[in-house]
Amino acid sequence: MRLLVVEDEKRIADFLGRGLESAGYAVDVASTGLSAVDHVHSTEYDLVILDLGLPDIDGLQVLEKVRNRKTVPPILILSARDSVDDRVRGLEQGADDYLVKPFAFVELLARVRVLLRRGQPTPEKLQVGDLTLDCIRRKVARANESIELAPKEFSILEYMMRNRGRPLSRTMIVEHVWDMDYDGLTNIVDVYIRHLRSKIDDKWTLKLIHTVRGIGYMLDLPEPSAAGAAPISELH
Ligand code: CA
Repeated sequence: MRLLVVEDEKRIADFLGRGLESAGYAVDVASTGLSAVDHVHSTEYDLVILDLGLPDIDGLQVLEKVRNRKTVPPILILSARDSVDDRVRGLEQGADDYLVKPFAFVELLARVRVLLRRGQPTPEKLQVGDLTLDCIRRKVARANESIELAPKEFSILEYMMRNRGRPLSRTMIVEHVWDMDYDGLTNIVDVYIRHLRSKIDDKWTLKLIHTVRGIGYMLDLPEPSAAGAAPISELH
């Protein structure tokens, strides 16, 4: 997998490059909008991470210049601008996701993985341990015992199972399950997770939903995983 990081701030570009490389990706870095356009035209990337504030043309113009290509890689926008306008414009111009600075590297990595997986066929049935979820029939069971979930609970569980083993922030969960991302809405995630736990975890010894301190939640089989203990680096 080859990624392009478009970021003019060297400190951030280096940090992202190193982090993504240690996660197993090949990474090129472009520090201007025009060189980013050149890179995208000359190399097949699996994903582009695009900062909006660039010294020559801005990220939205880069999007405009690359979106007419036959195959456009998924684009994740990074920006300090958190206005709804920029976000909507970026998404309208073909970006696939949007992350506002400052962000935790684990969150960036989780989103990168989701975007890279998007092109691949999604399974109709998900399974983690004895928990199964049928995406088509919208049925959930644990140890073959059917579990009734409200629609939002189902969506959260499906999202968590698709991202098994990855810490998901409340913001990520809100953005994938609700249409709007009001700040205040992130608290509602805790409420829904409580409901989910009471339905899929409480009466079983093996807990599948884990709280990841400082980030949010993760679904996986309980094991001495290092995922929750990974250091979080904040970028400003
Ligand atoms: Ca910048």
